Amino acid sequence: MKYQCDMIEDLLPLYQDHICSEASRQIVEEHLQECEHCRSTVGLMRDASLENQLQKECGHVLAEHRKSENRKMITAGAVTAAILLIPVIVCLICNLAVGHGLDWFFIVLTAILLTASLLVVPMVAAEKKLLWTLLCSTCALLALLLTCCIYSGGNWFFVAAVSCLFGISLIFAPYVVRAIALPQKLQKHKALLVYLWDSLWLYLLLIVCGIFVGGGHTYWKVSLAVATYYVVLAFLWVLILRYLRWNRWTKAGVLTILTGIWGGLTNDVIKRFLPSANGGLEHVDLSQGFSVRDVDVFGANIHLTVLVVSILAGIVCLLVGIGKGKGDKE
Ligand SMILES: [Zn+2]
Repeated sequence: MKYQCDMIEDLLPLYQDHICSEASRQIVEEHLQECEHCRSTVGLMRDASLENQLQKECGHVLAEHRKSENRKMITAGAVTAAILLIPVIVCLICNLAVGHGLDWFFIVLTAILLTASLLVVPMVAAEKKLLWTLLCSTCALLALLLTCCIYSGGNWFFVAAVSCLFGISLIFAPYVVRAIALPQKLQKHKALLVYLWDSLWLYLLLIVCGIFVGGGHTYWKVSLAVATYYVVLAFLWVLILRYLRWNRWTKAGVLTILTGIWGGLTNDVIKRFLPSANGGLEHVDLSQGFSVRDVDVFGANIHLTVLVVSILAGIVCLLVGIGKGKGDKE
């Protein structure tokens, strides 16, 4: 061979893209006729360039498809919004004609807004559809509650609003925390953030309800004590599930025992800390055994049964967990 393969390989990209001189082209072609190695290199280069082209075209087709789908969704959203506008206009006219003013119309308007937020927003939102739908529907729901409360002359708006927000937060807070961009330091503590956020709403709900019912000293003491008792349990759940590196069975065992103790001893703890609030609370009473003589003892026995069963179930899980842990190490 006249030329070394290294030299030809330097020329191959130019040859492949048809931008080398006529002389170089001849040299490469002559070499290719003789050299098996360089022929296979050219073949590989052709395959790679074909693949690149295919990928580019694929990406282009997908992007076009996505655009056209988005356009279709926005059109569907606009049509749905227009259809929803019809009852709004009809009710506006009726309310004006019959009542010579607007009152119940606002209930219809906010109810339709709630429907629109659930139907139209997911269609027209370009990205983060769940987040936008959640935000818009929550605002619409609060507006609906407010108009109903004003229309009925009630004073229950805050109780209803905080109850709804607490429920929505319980279900959707994990998705929201996952969807939004958090500072680096908070990234690892999403579970804890969700837990703190939900606890905040629980206490807010207790406060709003207390004010609404004019709760006395006992209400505040009992409600805050019971809530805190279970908020601490939930906190232990988060800590164990998220931060401890035990296997699943061990975690399940510890959590079952913990929850059994917490549930079984609720009334006993409340009695100990709030002697004034002990009316009718059955406590675990071992001296009574499991005889069902009166309602209090029967209730106490249920607490005791919960306690014993969950401790036994927890111990079984723990034993399995410890066995598996040893197996993993071996
Ligand atoms: Zn060669």
